[in-house]
Amino acid sequence: MHEQTTIPQPASVAPSSQVCSHNALHVGDIGSSLEVDKIPYVPVVGSMLRKNYSADGGTICLKPFASFIQQRNNTPSIQRQAAPATAPGSLFSANQKARFRPTGNITRKEFDAYVMQNFGVIDIHTGTQQEQEQRSTRRGLPPVTITGWQSWDPGSASGDYTSIIDGIENMASVMGAVPTITNITFFKVAYEPDATGAGIPDTTIGASFGAGNLTIFEAFSGSTNPAIGINTQQGAPTASRDRGRDIASTIMHELGHGVAEAAMASQNNQTFVQFKAVVGWIGNPEVLYDIGQPTVRAAIANQTQLPPQHIITTSRWFDPTLSEQPMSRYAVDGGPSEDFAESIAAFVANPSVLQQRSPARYNFIQSNITTWRTRMRPTMPARVRPPVGDFPIPSGDTGMA
Ligand SMILES: [Zn+2]
Repeated sequence: MHEQTTIPQPASVAPSSQVCSHNALHVGDIGSSLEVDKIPYVPVVGSMLRKNYSADGGTICLKPFASFIQQRNNTPSIQRQAAPATAPGSLFSANQKARFRPTGNITRKEFDAYVMQNFGVIDIHTGTQQEQEQRSTRRGLPPVTITGWQSWDPGSASGDYTSIIDGIENMASVMGAVPTITNITFFKVAYEPDATGAGIPDTTIGASFGAGNLTIFEAFSGSTNPAIGINTQQGAPTASRDRGRDIASTIMHELGHGVAEAAMASQNNQTFVQFKAVVGWIGNPEVLYDIGQPTVRAAIANQTQLPPQHIITTSRWFDPTLSEQPMSRYAVDGGPSEDFAESIAAFVANPSVLQQRSPARYNFIQSNITTWRTRMRPTMPARVRPPVGDFPIPSGDTGMA
């Protein structure tokens, strides 16, 4: 049920012999006033995860990493600057209790209680038709009517709830804080109105976030399928699809937009001016240049013609000759706002990969996160419950990164 987007293989990158059946999310958003998304949808708030990307030309499938935690454990030598000042007592409120991450299936009741107690979520509910019609109505257009509306949520018990929590916990673990999430709403499918006010379903949208509202649609189990290593002659290495990890990845991306909101609030709305300059988004509308190239930097400094051969287009985001490598196709296609969200998600999920692919993006986040966190919710990281029996006790995912 996804739109298939055929992306031509660029001649410079050898086609992969392995073909991934990607269902990557295409992510559009209006999370900030700087939104330059080409997607012709204008949600009321926030970002939208769009599931119509596929045929990621030039990428290769690798065996999936065993798990997020293993991934974290396998990258202990990440060079980070001083850890954020997240000592309990100075940052976390007294009523934040130590907790274990949930595993496996949990009930909706358990999910609701967990996110309310630990992340300050005020309301979690399964959306109604009237609510979605109201939310889908756009200024200047007639009130929306949806025919054939159906209710959806992950059910009375589901591993998907755990995966949503994983995405939030991953961010808390790395940043010591998460964006403010006030509401979580479940809908079956996103609707956009036509000129007459009829709601047109868009099955490609997986999630959205803005102003504290996290909306999750049934299609939320995709991800942008970001790179898991630096670009090679065969393209960008990407992981095989894994539902739990992809859901967590979707949530981390969405919370990346929340970090953007916090960043803008904490930096007098200058965050994106700086981000664009640092990572190479230039002009209006912005074009991404490979800022690591001396000729690009010289042209900027001298205000001379920028070298067009150093433009990073969606057809070469996986080019190994790039000195600064965006995390995914969508980071390029979605503009600075999506690039930012993808970079935050990578900083959380796979920081060493972000650092290797794009030191400019990594360093920008690393050097600003303390400021951004002043507008986020301090969140003590959860613990991972040690397994029962003769298994090695996991480590590395229980403390501050
Ligand atoms: Zn997005």
